[in-house]
Amino acid sequence: MSDTQPISTTAAGPANGAQIVPPAASGGVTQATVVSRTAPKTAYRPADVSPQRRVQRSYSVRLWAVRHSRALEWFYARFADIFLMLHPLWNRIGYSRVEAPVTFVEKRVKGLMFDCRMCGQCILSSTGMSCPMNCPKQLRNGPCGGVRANGNCEVEPDMPCVWVKAWEGSRNMVHGDKILDVQKPVDQSLRETSAWLRVTAQAAAARDAAKAQVSA
Ligand code: SF4
Repeated sequence: MSDTQPISTTAAGPANGAQIVPPAASGGVTQATVVSRTAPKTAYRPADVSPQRRVQRSYSVRLWAVRHSRALEWFYARFADIFLMLHPLWNRIGYSRVEAPVTFVEKRVKGLMFDCRMCGQCILSSTGMSCPMNCPKQLRNGPCGGVRANGNCEVEPDMPCVWVKAWEGSRNMVHGDKILDVQKPVDQSLRETSAWLRVTAQAAAARDAAKAQVSA
C-alpha cells in the first residue's frame, strides 16, 4: 500500500488490519501547528492565559459574592436598617429627588459585586447572592432543563449556571430557604430604578401601618 492510498475502514475498524496513524505521530503537521506557525508574531503575548480562562475570570467577583453569601446577608440586613433609619431624611428631601443619585451608586456597587442588571426588584437575599438576571433566559424561579453536567449554562458554556450557584449560596445563608419562595414575574417598568429605596419605602410604610394599628 502506498503512502497516499486511502485506508478503508469499517465499523469494526480499519480493513485488512491496517493501522491509522495520527498525522502528528507520523511526522505530519496538525491543524494547531499550522495555526500557530501562521499566526502573526507580536511583541507582546500574554502568557498562560487562554480565552476561556479570560471569560471565566469575568465571573470571579460574582462567584466570590456567592461564596460569601452568609457575610453579605448579615451586611445587607445592617445596611437595610441604616437605610430605614434614614427614611425621615429621604422623605424630607423627597424619594423622587434622591432616586437618581442612589440609583447611580447602587448600579455601580451591585454591578461590581453581583453583575447587577438593575431590574429594580432585587431578590439577591432569596437567591444565595447570585443575581438571576444574569441567566440568559432571565429565569427567576430556578434553572431551566439545560444545565450542563459540569454545572455550567447551556447558552453560555463557560459561565456557571446562576441557579446552581444560587442554590450553593443559599445553603450558607441563615434565611437560605427563601430560595423556595415563588418569585413574581419581573415588572419591566421598574428597570433602572433603585431597589434599595423601594425596599426602604415599603418597610417604612409597613412599620407606620403597624404603629397605627397598635395605637388604634
Ligand atoms: S436581582 Fe435585580 S436588582 Fe438584584 S442584583 Fe439582580 S438585577 Fe440587580
